[in-house]
Amino acid sequence: MIEFIDVVKTYDNGTTSVADLSFVAPTGKITVLVGPSGCGKTTTLRMVNRLIEQTSGSILLGGEDNAKTDTIRMRRKIGYVIQNAGLFPHQTVIDNVCAVPYLNKSDKRSAQARALDLLELVGLDRSYGSRYPWQLSGGQQQRVGVARALAADPPYMLMDEPFSAVDPIVRKQLQAEFLRIQGDLAKTIVMVTHDIDEALKLGDRIIVLKEGGVLAQIGSPAEILANPADQFVADFLGESRGYHALNFERISSLDPERTPSVQLEAPVAVRDDAWVVVCDALEKPVAWARAEGGIVATDRLSPTTPVSHDHGSYRELLDAALSSPAGRAVVVDGGGRYIGTLGSDAVIRSAVDALAEERRA
Ligand code: ADP
Repeated sequence: MIEFIDVVKTYDNGTTSVADLSFVAPTGKITVLVGPSGCGKTTTLRMVNRLIEQTSGSILLGGEDNAKTDTIRMRRKIGYVIQNAGLFPHQTVIDNVCAVPYLNKSDKRSAQARALDLLELVGLDRSYGSRYPWQLSGGQQQRVGVARALAADPPYMLMDEPFSAVDPIVRKQLQAEFLRIQGDLAKTIVMVTHDIDEALKLGDRIIVLKEGGVLAQIGSPAEILANPADQFVADFLGESRGYHALNFERISSLDPERTPSVQLEAPVAVRDDAWVVVCDALEKPVAWARAEGGIVATDRLSPTTPVSHDHGSYRELLDAALSSPAGRAVVVDGGGRYIGTLGSDAVIRSAVDALAEERRA
């Protein structure tokens, strides 16, 4: 756990960039600092590893006051990832990843073997180890940056806009991979972003800051979306706040309708032109189709992305319904087997009720 207690940072020129900030970043969770440019996010992050010294207040790492801990020992417990990865240009990828293990005088062979495993973990082929940073794309460099931060297996990670410098498609991939890795490693992470969508997607806990490093709100994404503390937070969340909130509403209480399902090329007992759900031999839905002449032919399929009844969100359900040619989302059980379908109008009606309930809670 990382704990800020009444932390203030005032620069010599009188700028207060962090004002009396107290919060807890819980163990094994992702805490995201978010807010507009200049609101003190990076200053807050850098005070954790003492790249910046606070003017007053305390910062505790696992209960230890970081101002009273030996800086080098303290930094060994913290992986640090920055925008543009910040790799050493004249060193190979593997030497970049091993930077901290080399400093710690770890055995070189075992450090390098672990570095190769880490490259794989972050989704890079081991053969990239011998390349130089300039021979990698921006997204690949960012992956190496994450591998480097993980190399000494630190319990804490600080990440400053780690995915901002890459294009939106790569960013989405990196975010998904990062969540997968964190699912296994459960590091205590503090991340900075100016992108509220990224904060809502990655954060277990979100800390919204406003100008002057003033705390605007702390909460889970669902709490902040349902009940923004003030107009500043509501404006920052933007107009798609309601739509975002659908990500956090589960659909398990909904009752799907049993739209007819068929297997390919098998005779069907529905009128021609009615939409049916096509399932494979294991009852897993693969597509929507329309019957013609009493059968469903392979050339009439529209692929579908089914939504899990146990874990799916209203957002997934609504996306699936709106992008389906039948205007309905296909719902499956925990084993991926067909349960039924839900139409977009029914989804919207229940989403409105679910969100209203969340706001009352
Ligand atoms: P953010 O990461 O949210 O964009 P920063 O933490 O970088 O914000 O900066 C917060 C405020 O502190 C800004 O107003 C910035 O201009 C100011 N600031 C940052 N570094 C210094 C410095 N070395 N001297 C004076 N002011 C600074």
